Amino acid sequence: HSREIQPIKWLQANDLQKEVYQHLAYYVPKIYCRGPNPAPQREDMLAQHILLGPMEWYLCGEDPAFGFPKLEQANKPSHLCGRVFKVGEPTYSCRDCAVDPTCVLCMECFLGSIHREHRYRMTTSGGGGFCDCGDTEAWKEGPYCQKHELNTSETAEEEDPLVQLPEDMVARAYNIFAITFKYAVDILTWEKENELPGLEMIEKSDTYYCMLFNDEVHTYEQVIYTLQKAVNCTQKEAIGFATTVDRDGRRSVRYGDFQYCDQAKSVIVRNTSRQTKPLKVQVMHSSIVAHQSFGLKLLTWLGSVIGYSDGLRRILCQVGLQEGPDGENSSLVDKLMLYDSKLWKGARNVYHQLFMSSLLMDLKYKKLFAIRFARNYERLQSDFMKDDHDRELSIADLSIQIFTVPSLARMLITEENLMTTIIKTFMDHLRHRDIQGRFQFERYTALQAFKFRRVQSLILDLKYVLISKPTEWSDDLRRKFLEGFDAFLELLKCMQGMDPITRQVGQHIEMEPEWEAAFTLQMKLTLVISMMQDWCALDEKVLIEAYKKCLTVLMQCHSGFTDGEQPIVLSMCGHSVETIRYCVSQEKVSIHLPVSRLLAGLHVLLSKTEVAYKFPELLPLSELSPPMLIEHPLRCLVLCAQVHAGMWRRNGFSLVNQIYYYHNVKCRREMFDKDIVMLQTGVSMMDPNHFLMIMLSRFELYQIFSTPDYGKRFSTENTNKDVVQQNNTLIEEMLYLIIMIVGERFSPGIGQVNATDEIKREIIHQLSIRPMAHSELVKALPEDENRETGMESVIEEVACFKKPGLTGRGLYELKPECAKNFNLYFYHFSRAEQSKAEEAQRKLKRQNREDTALPPPALPPFCPLFASLVNILQSDVMLCIMGTILQWAVEHNGYAWSESMLQRVLHLIGMALQEEKQHLENLSEENVVTFTFTQKISKPGEAPNNSPSILAMLETLQNAPHLEVHKDMIRWILKTFNTIKKLRESSSSSPLAETEGNIMEESSRDKDKAERKRKAEIARLRREKIMAQMSEMQRHFINENKELFQQTLEELDTSTSGAHENSPVISDAKLTALGPEQTRVAEPRQVVMCILCQEEQEVKVDSRAMVLAAFIQRSTVLSKNRNKITPDPEKYDPIFMHPDLSCGTHTGSCGHIMHAHCWQRYFDAVQAKEQRRQQRLRVHTSYDVENGEFLCPLCECLSNTVIPLLPPPRVLFNRLDFSGRPNLTQWIKTLSQQVKALHLLRNEDCASHSGHSEKMDQLQLPEGFRPDFKLKNPYSESIKEMLTTFGTATYKVGLKVHPNEEDPRVPIMCWGSCAYTIQTIERILADEDKPLFGHLPCRQDDCLTSLTRFAAAHWTVSSLSAVQGHFCTLLASLVPNEKNGNLPCILDIDMFHLLVSLVLSFPAIHCQDFSGVSLGTGDLHLFHLVTMAHIVQILLTSSTEENGMDQENTNSEEEVAVLTLYKFLCQCTGSALKEISSGWHLWRNLKAGIMPFLRCSALFFHYLNGVPAPSEIQVNGANQFEHLCSYLSLPNNLTCLFQENSEILNTLIESNNEVKRYLEGKRHAISYARESNKLIDLPDDYSCLINQASNFSCPKSGGDKSRAPTLCLVCGTMLCSQSYCCQTELEGEDVGACTAHTYTCGSGVGIFLRVRECQVLFLAGKTKGCFYPPPYLDDYGETDQGLRRGNPLHLCKERFKKIQKLWQQHSITEEIGHAQEANQTLVGIDWQHL
Ligand SMILES: [Zn+2]
Ligand SMILES: [Zn+2]
Ligand SMILES: [Zn+2]
Ligand SMILES: [Zn+2]
Ligand SMILES: [Zn+2]
Ligand SMILES: [Zn+2]
Ligand SMILES: [Zn+2]
Repeated sequence: HSREIQPIKWLQANDLQKEVYQHLAYYVPKIYCRGPNPAPQREDMLAQHILLGPMEWYLCGEDPAFGFPKLEQANKPSHLCGRVFKVGEPTYSCRDCAVDPTCVLCMECFLGSIHREHRYRMTTSGGGGFCDCGDTEAWKEGPYCQKHELNTSETAEEEDPLVQLPEDMVARAYNIFAITFKYAVDILTWEKENELPGLEMIEKSDTYYCMLFNDEVHTYEQVIYTLQKAVNCTQKEAIGFATTVDRDGRRSVRYGDFQYCDQAKSVIVRNTSRQTKPLKVQVMHSSIVAHQSFGLKLLTWLGSVIGYSDGLRRILCQVGLQEGPDGENSSLVDKLMLYDSKLWKGARNVYHQLFMSSLLMDLKYKKLFAIRFARNYERLQSDFMKDDHDRELSIADLSIQIFTVPSLARMLITEENLMTTIIKTFMDHLRHRDIQGRFQFERYTALQAFKFRRVQSLILDLKYVLISKPTEWSDDLRRKFLEGFDAFLELLKCMQGMDPITRQVGQHIEMEPEWEAAFTLQMKLTLVISMMQDWCALDEKVLIEAYKKCLTVLMQCHSGFTDGEQPIVLSMCGHSVETIRYCVSQEKVSIHLPVSRLLAGLHVLLSKTEVAYKFPELLPLSELSPPMLIEHPLRCLVLCAQVHAGMWRRNGFSLVNQIYYYHNVKCRREMFDKDIVMLQTGVSMMDPNHFLMIMLSRFELYQIFSTPDYGKRFSTENTNKDVVQQNNTLIEEMLYLIIMIVGERFSPGIGQVNATDEIKREIIHQLSIRPMAHSELVKALPEDENRETGMESVIEEVACFKKPGLTGRGLYELKPECAKNFNLYFYHFSRAEQSKAEEAQRKLKRQNREDTALPPPALPPFCPLFASLVNILQSDVMLCIMGTILQWAVEHNGYAWSESMLQRVLHLIGMALQEEKQHLENLSEENVVTFTFTQKISKPGEAPNNSPSILAMLETLQNAPHLEVHKDMIRWILKTFNTIKKLRESSSSSPLAETEGNIMEESSRDKDKAERKRKAEIARLRREKIMAQMSEMQRHFINENKELFQQTLEELDTSTSGAHENSPVISDAKLTALGPEQTRVAEPRQVVMCILCQEEQEVKVDSRAMVLAAFIQRSTVLSKNRNKITPDPEKYDPIFMHPDLSCGTHTGSCGHIMHAHCWQRYFDAVQAKEQRRQQRLRVHTSYDVENGEFLCPLCECLSNTVIPLLPPPRVLFNRLDFSGRPNLTQWIKTLSQQVKALHLLRNEDCASHSGHSEKMDQLQLPEGFRPDFKLKNPYSESIKEMLTTFGTATYKVGLKVHPNEEDPRVPIMCWGSCAYTIQTIERILADEDKPLFGHLPCRQDDCLTSLTRFAAAHWTVSSLSAVQGHFCTLLASLVPNEKNGNLPCILDIDMFHLLVSLVLSFPAIHCQDFSGVSLGTGDLHLFHLVTMAHIVQILLTSSTEENGMDQENTNSEEEVAVLTLYKFLCQCTGSALKEISSGWHLWRNLKAGIMPFLRCSALFFHYLNGVPAPSEIQVNGANQFEHLCSYLSLPNNLTCLFQENSEILNTLIESNNEVKRYLEGKRHAISYARESNKLIDLPDDYSCLINQASNFSCPKSGGDKSRAPTLCLVCGTMLCSQSYCCQTELEGEDVGACTAHTYTCGSGVGIFLRVRECQVLFLAGKTKGCFYPPPYLDDYGETDQGLRRGNPLHLCKERFKKIQKLWQQHSITEEIGHAQEANQTLVGIDWQHL
């Protein structure tokens, strides 16, 4: 009743706060924290009733059950979705429409949006964050989904939601919100231990909690271990505590008086303070804990109440942001934010959620909150630095929600100067500087490194702020942006020149210097630097200002770079220049030059502006000093060259890594690329000769080229090969750099291109290396801030897509017409890529029968600011360099010269020619061509006098024998030279000359062609010669290895001749697989070779055993009942297989044959080696030797035993058939007598040992039965041993027991494995719609042959009486006798297993039967008997549906007969059977139901007796049933069996209770035909699975989300994998949910889909496992393991089928074995914990 009384009291109260506080002070401690463990359900119920209920009453002014719905109805709901994401929930972003990648939709909104048809990206949420549906600023298009669009129609944006609420309610809401919100904030931020804020301690019970807090420092194991010690709990309890601490951030671990709790605290602190800081523990008064619990409850409650009405939401926002009496930062929201880092995880989650559902959902208050957030920014970040929780758990992380809103970001920049604030805060946290004020990361402590990682999140904030670019600039924005830019330059200034290095000579460096921190910073800043430039590019004023600022800072950085030393003068070819003395190899040099690079970027932007074209004089270019601009980038590039030349080897790996990242796609855009741009910028303003001399000097090559003949002398005088080699490399590198400076003009602003040209060129060069998958291409291309490469828009133009097959992935191939754009010296190629591309392109040209020259491609023209760069190519110094190198090549002496040097010179000449050609072609009237390269190279050289011209040298080189490879290129150069000459002439002469030129051209092309043809001819002849040699060698080889070949030929012979012998028989008579009429076939002599000793041997009964490697495993693949409880293996009697086939024993083999003794020796060696290895390394292998596992020595297939090879065993025991063949009834009668006799004899044996008693005399032994007869075992000792080995292995694995060869169950397991394996293979063939015979792979065929023969021979090594006993029991299930009671009813027997066991145990009785009835007769009768039983089984259980099927009214003989039989069955069962009148239906059902059994039987008898299958069942076709019946010696009309043996039927269903119960519907039975098992159906769209998994919560920890939800593909169960919460004990070990599941679902083998990772997991046993590619592909034909790319994924049915086939074929374990052998790291994974 307090629900109503309390609020009425409150409504009248003067001091409401006091009243409410009193109420809370009294009740809260009575509800919460009443004992050591929380009782959330009880607490929630009481709190709702006593505390929250009255508040709701008060708020509504009436029963909230009416009040809230009213509010909801009156509410005009927001058009924002705002759904807060759970961990693991799928989120979607649209690559076409999202303003940035942080804009996401929840699944529901996504499915109702236009974006599902766009290029979307899918990710799983890490928790936190909310759906942006309805936020018009987040989407360029389609901001609303269908659902949220409805809400937009009437709402006027600016309408105050409060008008919808009654006034008195507004007032009440203010009151109650203010009180409760304040209460919650006060109690959560309360720090005193024995007092409460404004509350009296009503109940002073003085109980305490020892509260353990979570941190990110200690591991789970440490916490668990410590708790066990400190509070004396079990491991289970400790795990429970640790899990809650990890999830909620705190958990009380002890309850009691202060001292008791304090004691635990000190133990925990002591135990965890050794290496790290101790775990946080606090002893807290239970009242405080109680109020805190309720405080959190209140915040959650507020969140749900405001969900009813936007008006209430606004009121709460107002209350939260209202400034308190203490002024600045005194609002409740501020208080919480500023206390954030001191709160525990659970509390943070709750109030962050409240902020998201209140402040961030109300547009007006979102802005106000953003301002509060920005003003507190510095403080919040500092708190975050000190905090040790992950960023997602910090309030600082809300920046992503605020800064990514473009209007807010813009507002915060202009009004709160946010850019500057962020950058300054960032700088404040990086205080370590060297004397020049640069960042210093050397000798970084772990704590600093940790802090540094946290600081990086500020860069992310900067990125968010910049991500949406302004469309309009206000003066304010300009000012504030430039202010921010200033701050940014300050930051870059601290990086310019950081981590300088000096070349190490003599000794190797002692310690690798720290370099990663600096690179991390650079890498993180890369996008920000690019975005800064993007912003500048949008406004000319800003750009010019920024350029000036940047230039000023750069000059500050390099002030005094010419100080000190005297300048030196360089002169060459009549040019001279002053420069400083500086050697990269001797002085400090740094890779970090962000200021220079930023200036380079801005310069390119300037070049794009209109000003640059029209009034370049307006640009601040005059202030530039080009030599200063190029100096540092040049040093950096020289450093790379020297590293490549091996000069920095002693500086260790850190330098190699830095150089790698400098060029890497992640960094190069703002490192290497910009250095090239800076050189281009500087050089474009310099005399190229001057530049080249400075460059020569920096490369330390000036002497070589400036002194005539210096090079030659240098190489002859210098005996140090290394130094010469070094110089060669440096020259190559320098030439490469020149190629880049002149040739790289694909950035807009440098060359006259647009952005798509740039990306196209990148793709062309990637695909020139080889065809690539989409993801590979994406990785090779730089991404922008929106994670886009721009590839999709151009890829179609340059590449064709090739779809993937069953494995592998889809590939893009370069279009042939794009090959002409290939540039061998593309600047983003690594060395390896360059040589691969060269090889691939040359090969391509050869295939197309073209010459193999790879000339430079035609290039786009430069922009005006860079136009002068081309002059490098025709500058005097350049020509001198070219001439010198060509001279070396002509003289060709010594090693001061390299082919790649020449290749580069040729490329440069080619570039110059292309340039000149283009100039001529684009010649307009008024322009004079100033590019006259052809003229210059035709002139003879100047120094030394009369040296030959470059052209002349090229002509000489054309015929040089040592330059064969370059011949095509030189020819191309000379040809182009001629073309240009003609172009020049034609421009001055008549058009006639031009055509003449063409003819000339033509004839030279013909000549080329003829030459190529001649070469092709030579090549062909050479090939033929080689082929002839090869075949000669082969003949020789065969002669030498005659024996070997003889043998294979013989084998071939026997197999084919065998077929010949049989063929006439086959064609004439019908083939019969069993019975007295069985077709006799001569068994071909079987000679096999041992893979270990390579010796061959014949398979015979009395020779040494040959064996096949085999793998036995328990299997549930055919199971129809996965929930069956596995019986105790020690007591379990496996003699009858239940038709649910819940667990079988499967045998497989790779088909490789060994001598038994060779195998034994091999296995012993493996075992010994493994033991030694395990002692040494303590690691496992992919196989478990202790369990008898080994790898097949030939194919490494996992095996755990061997099967002996045997000749057909039945022949050995078959005696002549001279009796009149008894019919089934007679035969059974005789057999029953024999069985009875055996029973009596056995009882006799047991009863007395005193010889024969009278009973024995009474016993009438059936005629010819001699129970005392002992058969001599025909097999050799070695074969007998192998029979026992394999039998014992089957028993051990199949029953999971210790091996015991004496156990009477051994033979049963052998027969069972034979039957089960045949059944699995029959299913696979049926599922694939393949004919029964002739389509099995050899290995399976061999395996089934030996398995069947083995099973048939095994009784000879078992105890005869045991096998006889088994036979009697088996038979009694169909022919009851008084001795065997309690047998399963025929509904509960798998008839095929029964058949196999009966047939294979029968010889044990038959061997003592000398009456003259043949074994074959017995086989046939047994088969008929079981078939009849199966027919009865089918008729009893078939759920025939008469209606709805068309039936033919033919009433054939079969139909009439089956109907009669059915009616008879009805009578026998007391008419409990359903009335059926359609014989047609019955017959149809019977045929369908019995087919699998007949097919299995055909396989069985085929392998047992070796009778080939008739050709009709080797193909799919009509009348399979009839052909099978004929092969199996069955009448086509199966019911005839009953007519001939009418008595049998009675015995089959006689007085069976179970049948009756089934017919009365009291029990279940399997019906036939059993359907094949498949893996579960998977949805087409992968996001369905993600969604399903995100809704899945851990079954053990009360509604918590599972971290690794994993789907069993066999049965569809979702599991909470890889987590402590769901570990269980299995056979004395803790195992994860998946491993535990495999034991019930898959007998130890499991196939799972790890949903978050999009990865298939195979498990086998506790130690084996591997990952397997998922059957989901994106549109580019690729899987996405780990869901990193996020492209939409769809089910690939073929790949899923492949996985299913692996499962059906029992190849999962084998697959794991191969995977583990191929990848050793898989062996180390703790698979059992998954
Ligand atoms: Zn949504
Ligand atoms: Zn929506
Ligand atoms: Zn879209
Ligand atoms: Zn051998
Ligand atoms: Zn093998
Ligand atoms: Zn769990
Ligand atoms: Zn399962």
